[in-house]
Amino acid sequence: MGENSRAQLIHIDVDRRLGHEWDEWNGKPLPGQGNFDAPPSLFFAWSAGTIVLTTAALAVLLYLLAPRLAAIHPAIPTTLWTALAVVAAGTLLWWGLILASVLLKRPLLPEWLAERGPYLRLMSLTSKVAARFGWRDWVENASVKVYNALALERGRTVGKGELLVLIPRCLSKDTLDSVLQVAGKYDVPVFVATRGQLARRVIRERRPRAVVAVACERDMVTGLHDVAGKVPVLGLTMTLPAGPCKDARLDMPKLEEWVKNYVKA
Ligand code: SF4
Repeated sequence: MGENSRAQLIHIDVDRRLGHEWDEWNGKPLPGQGNFDAPPSLFFAWSAGTIVLTTAALAVLLYLLAPRLAAIHPAIPTTLWTALAVVAAGTLLWWGLILASVLLKRPLLPEWLAERGPYLRLMSLTSKVAARFGWRDWVENASVKVYNALALERGRTVGKGELLVLIPRCLSKDTLDSVLQVAGKYDVPVFVATRGQLARRVIRERRPRAVVAVACERDMVTGLHDVAGKVPVLGLTMTLPAGPCKDARLDMPKLEEWVKNYVKA
């Protein structure tokens, strides 16, 4: 070996355990220093596109299968075309009511037909479509904003001891200290949920009547999809200036406002 040859230093970041949502991260800094702040309109644009794309895909499939289905019974294609038209019209009407609820700041649909029902499925589907075009984090940020707007319109309050704050393991030390301070001030238990599975277990065992959950956009969308149907949740997303799963920061005034409003009863 020459005098100048040096061993190559392979840097392994031992204090960063990536959540599986970030498996494909290439180690480079995240765009916008991990701040994916986006307006709710971005979600409405992408979700409208997702609905149109899904309907078009089903229409093409039906068009291709129609001759075979007609061979089984001539009425089958007409029935399926009618069903597709009814479902598409119903979905567009529902989407319009979600948009109107956010614009008017008034809940026009019951929870089970909005943020604790089909909205969660549309959010996941839209996120999958956006991921294909490299827009996942921004569209998810916007979709969580719409979700929170719908949930906040309910003006829900709970008694002391009925609220739970769920935080991830990736908060920076300062942020964690501030979260514990706020939680202590309002007497609310805080749980560190290292995985979505654990979050679900904590909710099952503690049976809170409401949850304020903190996570990155990716974890939030899957977490809301799994949990928000069972218990009312407000979801606070974070910024990731040091990349995923490490030293995350969050909007502390917003966290405090949500906790305060929930337990003010
Ligand atoms: S919440 Fe934190 S630890 Fe979990 S996947 Fe997101 S960045 Fe990683």
